[in-house]
Amino acid sequence: MIYEHGLLITVDAERRIIGDGAMVVRDGRFAAIDKTATLRERFPLEQRIDLKGKVVTPGLVNTHVHLAQAMIRGCADDMELLEWLGKRVWVLQGNYTEEDGRASAELCILEMLKSGTTAFVESLLAERYGFSGIAEVVLRSGIRAALAKIVMDVGTYATKTGWMHPGMVEDRDTSLKNTLAMYDQWNGAGNGRLAVWFGPRTPGGVTPELYRQITALAHERNMGVTVHLAEVASDRKFLQETYGLSPARYAESVGLVGPRVLLVHAVWMAAAVQTWVEVRHEIDELLDSHRAQAAALLVVQQAGEIDEHGPGIDAPTLHRYAPKVAFQVFHEGQLVLRSANAPAQPMAGTEREGQPQFRTVQIEGNDLSLIHI
Ligand SMILES: [Zn+2]
Repeated sequence: MIYEHGLLITVDAERRIIGDGAMVVRDGRFAAIDKTATLRERFPLEQRIDLKGKVVTPGLVNTHVHLAQAMIRGCADDMELLEWLGKRVWVLQGNYTEEDGRASAELCILEMLKSGTTAFVESLLAERYGFSGIAEVVLRSGIRAALAKIVMDVGTYATKTGWMHPGMVEDRDTSLKNTLAMYDQWNGAGNGRLAVWFGPRTPGGVTPELYRQITALAHERNMGVTVHLAEVASDRKFLQETYGLSPARYAESVGLVGPRVLLVHAVWMAAAVQTWVEVRHEIDELLDSHRAQAAALLVVQQAGEIDEHGPGIDAPTLHRYAPKVAFQVFHEGQLVLRSANAPAQPMAGTEREGQPQFRTVQIEGNDLSLIHI
């Protein structure tokens, strides 16, 4: 099969962007990628599919998904996060059966595939959703996934004691033991398409001792860990009042840094009134000490979240650098910002000594900025 006359945006070693490009696909794999004319000559007998007017990109990677929430979308709109969780979402999810968990995962994965997503990270799979049933859905669908299973030892969220629905509370030993059991059973399944990660709850639901145990176990097994960090202002307040540490410093103190760690949301990394540059400064400190993929991904998440959570950030600064940001981690440590009218400028704070930090190419009047973190 030859797909021809498309605009191909590759992520190969030369970062080729091929106008009037073609791809030859055999047995589900790319056999060749080049100009249409070249491949027509090399593969004259292939069946042809016309991609005129279409752009072909690598699959999108969704770095933060809650599979269980696909089925209850719209049940609790326009609420503040903790109210939303405590009064609605956890009440619903806390009543899920394994059948519900599987059905919601099927819906969510179907939606991702239909919108071009070929890999995702599920961040908090509860025991009650049925891990194995969801792993089977992933394998059957063809998508690539990291499924992070909840680990926790305290039934609270930041400053809110007693806020968690009893159906969502798990105990330390069971949640830890079963995560490792699921890792042994499923990690690497589907020819490497499925990875099993730790999904510890936020600080407040997990003691520092348990975080340290998790990060040590993850290190031994080369497992991923994903954590919601500083999603709301009370997360930051909790960490400051309880441990006297900023979110970034707290993460560092319990080992939540390094190439296996994906920190998500990270809206309140710096104090309440801040600029993009100040937020970046704190992240840069982590980058300086660890130069980790974690920090790069954290920036990706932040770029996506700032727009919605305006009060925590200097919105005009963000808008100047990345209007209408659609982001994608094409491969480790590289962030791609795509925008219809984005000025060709790096985001503040990305400059680093001696390295080219970004380059910009023009495609049919649009800027495509490739930014190295
Ligand atoms: Zn989340």
